[in-house]
Amino acid sequence: MTADEVLARLDALRQRDAPTHGGRVLSYVYDSGLAELDELAAAAARAVQSINGLDPTTFPSVALLEADLVRFSRDMLHGDADVVGSVTSGGTESCLLAVRTARDLWRAAGGTGVPRLVLPITAHAAFRKAAHLFCLELDVVPVDAATGIVRADDIAARLAPDVALVVVSAPSYPHAALDPVGEVAARAAEHGIACHVDACIGGFALPWWPHLAPWDFTVEGVTSISADLHKFGYAPKGASVLLHRGRQRHRAQYFATTDWPGYPVVNPTLLGSKPAGPLAAAWAIVQHLGAEGFHTLTERARRATEALRAAIDGIEGLRVVGDPAGPLLAVATDDAVAVGRRVDPHRWADAARARGWLLQQQPALRQADGSQLARTTHLTITAVTEQRLPELVPDLVGAADDVRGMPGVDGSHVLASLPPELGSALAHALAEGAAPPPGVMAALLAGLGVGADGALPTEAAPLTALIEALPSGLVEGVLIELIASMIEP
Ligand SMILES: *Cc1c(COP(=O)(O)O)cnc(C)c1O
Repeated sequence: MTADEVLARLDALRQRDAPTHGGRVLSYVYDSGLAELDELAAAAARAVQSINGLDPTTFPSVALLEADLVRFSRDMLHGDADVVGSVTSGGTESCLLAVRTARDLWRAAGGTGVPRLVLPITAHAAFRKAAHLFCLELDVVPVDAATGIVRADDIAARLAPDVALVVVSAPSYPHAALDPVGEVAARAAEHGIACHVDACIGGFALPWWPHLAPWDFTVEGVTSISADLHKFGYAPKGASVLLHRGRQRHRAQYFATTDWPGYPVVNPTLLGSKPAGPLAAAWAIVQHLGAEGFHTLTERARRATEALRAAIDGIEGLRVVGDPAGPLLAVATDDAVAVGRRVDPHRWADAARARGWLLQQQPALRQADGSQLARTTHLTITAVTEQRLPELVPDLVGAADDVRGMPGVDGSHVLASLPPELGSALAHALAEGAAPPPGVMAALLAGLGVGADGALPTEAAPLTALIEALPSGLVEGVLIELIASMIEP
């Protein structure tokens, strides 16, 4: 293929994607609404395209860019000169490194056996991945089902010498709940336990958000904070910062070895060779916006969030969960109205999708204390959303009108409606506690309307209901099959 043909092909493939600009997708993408930022980021990434970010002694520019980003983030999060950190490839990597560092310091301080990671159920799944990869025991604390906020006493009750790290969110992804950082960090500090604040989503917005309880390095017991540049830092994907209080903690994040016949290895993050593009793009955006620019963009997102919150609270049958801190919301059914007037948040999301808006469905989940976290629909609101309110609000109201009174999809009904041979294969797998063979899972997905290319059916509510209804081990297998089969040649 010629270069032109290659690019034309790429362009054609991109036509299938959800739109990344214009505010129609209310999760995953963060649009500043400023076209010049995209151009600037692309130019900066291109300028360092051929660099290997592995080695700052060969490519000193990467160290200087990183130092600028660490300085900006530290100031933004009210860290003093004792706060240092690194730029990582994203929120997941920042969370992984926060956990691994805490585990290693816990061991260095004499901890033996399997360390525990204490976290609210609402903490991002990246911490479950960290516990899995780095062999910590997960200790999941239920949250207040009405607000999505964890109670500090419930965390404190779990604290003991085997706890390597406590995690709280500022705010949580599922409910935009700001956990009681001050109280939890103080209780952890009394036990000499590290406390990580996951501000991956809030980190570059909450510093300019009014009326919040202290949640950053102004809180003494906070030992590390993660904040994603590729979320409300409005940078292209591949950039986050992880800051530590104290150089010793930061140094413990590194891996180094000279014990092989090749070059001496010193890695601050999980990767070896790594791109400098996301770093340079994030750096360029931060230089260009400055604190002033972030303030302006956050104000736009905040006004849009308040307008949406008021609009949704005004929709009969729906309610906004808790008291969202930051530019994101979770929407649930308002059980205070008569059954016939209720709106299921997943049916609502599907109806909004039919009107051209992509909202994210979050399944219901039972907590260990028996309380139920309601099914919700998630909205991430960015600076560009403000410009779209005149179309978005009437469509959200109309989507609710479309489905008001319709009961939510019941996962057991979905299962019962499957062809008998599929149903019995699944029942068999359930009884065995094993994942059904790939063929059965493929048939299941096809039965749910998922295309061979992974394209979801126009209504996603049945799939979400199945996620609620099936044991997580089984449904995780089904979802792996869905995603893995998409990249089979
Ligand atoms: C997005 C997010 C993460 C994970 O970040 P990725 O960049 O998707 O890897 C972690 N914590 C919170 C609260 C998040 O919103």
